[in-house]
Amino acid sequence: MESHYEYELVCIGSGPAGQRAAIQAAKLGKSVAVIEKQRCIGGVCIETGTIPSKTFREAVRRYYSRPGFDQGPHYQARQRPTLEQLLSHVDRVVQQETEVVQDALARNDIKVIRGRGRFTGPHTIEIDGLEGRREIRAANVLVAVGTRPAEPRGATADGEVVITSDQLLGLKKLPQKVAVVGAGVIGIEYASMFAALGVHVNVIDKRPRPLEFLDHEIVDELIHQMRKQDVTFRCGDGVDSIEIIEDGQNEGLIELESGKHIVADVILFSVGRTGATDTLNLGAAGLEADERGRLVVDDHFRTSAGHIYAAGDVIGYPALAATSSEQGRLAACHMFGADAKPMADHFPIGIYAIPEISMVGETEESLTRKKIPYEIGIARYREISRGQILGDDSGFFKMIFNRDDGKLLGTHCIGSGATELVHVGQAVIGLGGGLDYFMDTVFNYPTLAECYKVAAFNAANKINFARRISSKRKNKPRIEVESGPEVPVAPPGKEREHESKSSGKNDGEQPVSGKAAVHG
Ligand SMILES: Cc1cc2nc3c(=O)[nH]c(=O)nc-3n(C[C@H](O)[C@H](O)[C@H](O)COP(=O)(O)OP(=O)(O)OC[C@H]3O[C@@H](n4cnc5c(N)ncnc54)[C@H](O)[C@@H]3O)c2cc1C
Repeated sequence: MESHYEYELVCIGSGPAGQRAAIQAAKLGKSVAVIEKQRCIGGVCIETGTIPSKTFREAVRRYYSRPGFDQGPHYQARQRPTLEQLLSHVDRVVQQETEVVQDALARNDIKVIRGRGRFTGPHTIEIDGLEGRREIRAANVLVAVGTRPAEPRGATADGEVVITSDQLLGLKKLPQKVAVVGAGVIGIEYASMFAALGVHVNVIDKRPRPLEFLDHEIVDELIHQMRKQDVTFRCGDGVDSIEIIEDGQNEGLIELESGKHIVADVILFSVGRTGATDTLNLGAAGLEADERGRLVVDDHFRTSAGHIYAAGDVIGYPALAATSSEQGRLAACHMFGADAKPMADHFPIGIYAIPEISMVGETEESLTRKKIPYEIGIARYREISRGQILGDDSGFFKMIFNRDDGKLLGTHCIGSGATELVHVGQAVIGLGGGLDYFMDTVFNYPTLAECYKVAAFNAANKINFARRISSKRKNKPRIEVESGPEVPVAPPGKEREHESKSSGKNDGEQPVSGKAAVHG
């Protein structure tokens, strides 16, 4: 390192990307500093995002002690908990997680500098902190400043009636009526948590469906379960205006483009997040952000200025804690010439709604677009012993296999433990495995992992059946069919015609590869 640099790496932002890059560089023997403007070390992830929202969810779930929405015949209404009761658990976890991050940085001799950082040149950063201003010189910089929530147009998020997800856990009391604007991951997660607390929830989105990127059957099931919990979906209708009506007890009024009015005690505005780059003075470093505040990077997370890298939410999709952390590590490895394989494509996505959802790999919709022939296998929690033990009879699990070679292409789940369960599928996809693996493997019993076995046999039977039919067809002359109108999609809850009506279990057909079908 040239002697006039104080640090070989300076990370701006202490979220997963900044932390992980800093630790990786320190492990490689480099001198590292992390700049953080907030009181809490750990980023949005620990302060207002992942950790508090998931801890809040756990507090809600524990309070009601039910994994899905189904309450069973003996459910008895309970007194609503106070927000204070629910948040006490959140404060404790946030505090502990912050300490874990601080310890990890300290153990690796990483200097934490408190204050807001901004570029004054390509290698110089000015820090405006409680102890005044100072400038540091860095050989390399990682921009890991994350994002902040978009604010509603024409209204101010006052933190009481109109709030963003960053302000939600600062509410003073549990509302009676909530309107969630934006049916993305954060909006849906909080909508389902409020619904589980007995709050009446309206979900508004100008797109026709929530969570478009997920398997549609899984989303249908989520909508079905949330509707049972008194959530009203108003999709395909945009927000025209948001107003705060001041009449002693302030309320929010939303006017939709269709002319509908929705009144709520609290409006959660959750329509996406913008890169927090506006105060970085990027121009001094020769950089520019796009219209959503994001930075463009190459495959090694390098910006157009070769020694400045960017990682985490500030570079956009997928904007998850685990991927941000891995991007930070890979950026540091590349910066200092350490060997590292690129991040695997098959990262899982978890939606911590009630009920929980997770997926990895392809969806039926993406495979249809790519014209890849596939077959699905399903398992329902009500037919899995562990599902019964957990009292979750609404869980639904689906695997998608390549119809020709039986390789696993995607795994999708809604129900208890979905975000954990999906990792088996992720490993099998990553290792290029498929049907044979699941049919030959024995899992613990009773566990939710039994879903893999049941769904594999279900798919194997269908593949086998399709092969028998197609071998019979080979001997017959082909009749060309002109393309006609699209076949209507089965409404939610209706089984596909070629599936067993009530079960994802083996329906007696011989599975592929001539293996004996013992399930079902
Ligand atoms: C409500 C919510 C729930 C979420 N739930 C999940 C989930 O369940 N699973 C999941 O994987 N992901 C979840 N996420 C996303 C996850 O939190 C982010 O992907 C992750 O935190 C991004 O990490 P990051 O390192 O890019 O930056 P962040 O965690 O955003 O941290 C950036 C840090 O940079 C600091 N900073 C910004 N500008 C400056 C500056 N000029 N000077 C100094 N410091 C600065 C900020 O104060 C902040 O601490 C959720 C997000 C939200 C908002």
